Amino acid sequence: MDIKTFQELKQTIKQTNKSIVQIAFELEENSSNLNKNELKKIAKKTLKAMKEAIYTGLSAKSETNGKMGGFDCNKQVEFYKNHPSVFGRLFEKIICYALATSEENARMGRIVACPTAGACGIVPSILISCFEEFDIDKEKQINSLLVAGLIGKIIAYKVKPAGATAGCQAECGTASAMAAGAMAYLFDYDIDIIINAAALAIKNILGLTCDPVRGFVEVPCIKRNPFLAIHAAVALELASAKIESVIPADEVIDAMEQTGALMSADLKENSKAGLAKTKTAIIMDKSCFTKKYYSELND
Ligand code: SF4
Repeated sequence: MDIKTFQELKQTIKQTNKSIVQIAFELEENSSNLNKNELKKIAKKTLKAMKEAIYTGLSAKSETNGKMGGFDCNKQVEFYKNHPSVFGRLFEKIICYALATSEENARMGRIVACPTAGACGIVPSILISCFEEFDIDKEKQINSLLVAGLIGKIIAYKVKPAGATAGCQAECGTASAMAAGAMAYLFDYDIDIIINAAALAIKNILGLTCDPVRGFVEVPCIKRNPFLAIHAAVALELASAKIESVIPADEVIDAMEQTGALMSADLKENSKAGLAKTKTAIIMDKSCFTKKYYSELND
């Protein structure tokens, strides 16, 4: 059995009466030659690694490799201590966990690429925040990771999740769709809502380019992760109210593929346009860049 589209996924669930989790496990068993218990062990280890990246990142206060970040998570955490978010604790956690993980990635720390290192803060921040805030049992935690993986896999059949292939829509957009669908599963929504949440997340981020400053996965990548994590939460909010994507999920993925193909190569990870070629980015690139130099520049 293989499932390459959201339509096939929906049909299979309706025809077989299997759950999305059963199907996700079966597909993984087929493609990996591992049994369900072995897969569960891997998923458990993966979730543990996600948590470790978050907790390492939350307490880290050191510069990233490209010297353009590394302190935002700490700033946000400190800010919330005296100014709790009006949107509540879950919102705070999603933002801080996404920043923590992305900054860890930029420090060359250990993260889980999901689907990529650049987008590594989106799925973990959503999953781990929800696990903690809603006391999700271990079995369901593992299942939600499988659901996220299945969504990513279906998208990847058409569009490779790489900024170099289709821009950031394919990295952070795919991660956001994975997170939105997994969150819908966590809150017991049916397959229509899971797929619709993923479709809404992708649809509303189409065209997002990949223009990393100085070629490092830092600017805009680090801050983009909390944005796209919250984007996933918005997709779930709309989908759970049965607000549908007028364009079906598979066609949204077709649109992402086409948009990626039409995108200039300069905006696909080459750092030849967009943010990477702004006045500030050029000066930073030319200089022997240090934080001190940058602050002098802005004096
Ligand atoms: S801007 Fe490019 S490098 Fe950065 S997260 Fe997006 S796709 Fe990855």
